[in-house]
Amino acid sequence: MDQLLLHACCGPCSTVALPAWQAEGLAATLLFYNPNIQPSCEHGRRLASLEEFALLAGVGLHVHEGGGAADWFAAQNGAAGQERCAACLNLRLYATARLAAARGVPRFATTLTVSPYQRHDLIRLAGEAAAAAHGVEFLYADLRAQFARSGQESRRLGLYRQRYCGCVPSKWEAWAMQRSRLRRPV
Ligand code: SF4
Repeated sequence: MDQLLLHACCGPCSTVALPAWQAEGLAATLLFYNPNIQPSCEHGRRLASLEEFALLAGVGLHVHEGGGAADWFAAQNGAAGQERCAACLNLRLYATARLAAARGVPRFATTLTVSPYQRHDLIRLAGEAAAAAHGVEFLYADLRAQFARSGQESRRLGLYRQRYCGCVPSKWEAWAMQRSRLRRPV
C-alpha cells in the first residue's frame, strides 16, 4: 500500500481526514508538529486527544517536538494577519515534507484542509512549496464539507475539541468574536 505522512492538527479533524485518505488506498501515519498551539497546556490537550484517536484508529503517530513554541515565534519574525498564518503554515508543512523525505515516504497531506476557518489557498501554497523543496508530493483535498461530521465524530469518541486555531493572537480573536456575538442586539 502507498504510504502517506499525514500532518495532524488535532484529533477531531483527523477523525474525517484519516478515513478520507485511507479510502484513496493510502496507508497513513500521523504526524503531530504544531508549535503554534499555545499555551503549552492547550498543546498538551490537543496532543492527548490525537493520541487517543490514533490508538482507536490503529494508526502510527509520530510526535515531532522540534524547538517547541520557540520554532513558531522564530518563524513569525513580527508577521501579522495573513502573513502570520502563511509563516505558521510554512513552518509546519516544511517540517512535514522534510520528515516525509527523511523517512522515505513519497507524499504528505494535512488535516488542516478539514477546517473552513483555515485559508486553503495558503495551505496549498505552503504545501506545494514544501513539497518542491524536499522532493516529495503534497496531496491536497478540500475536506471542508466534512467539518460538521468531524464535530459529530469527536463527540461520539469523547475527544477534546478546541475553540480557537492555536496561537495566542487567534485565542484573543476567537474571544473577541464571541463577545461581539453576545453583545449583538436581539
Ligand atoms: S491563526 Fe492559526 S494558522 Fe494563523 S498563525 Fe495562528 S495558529 Fe497559525
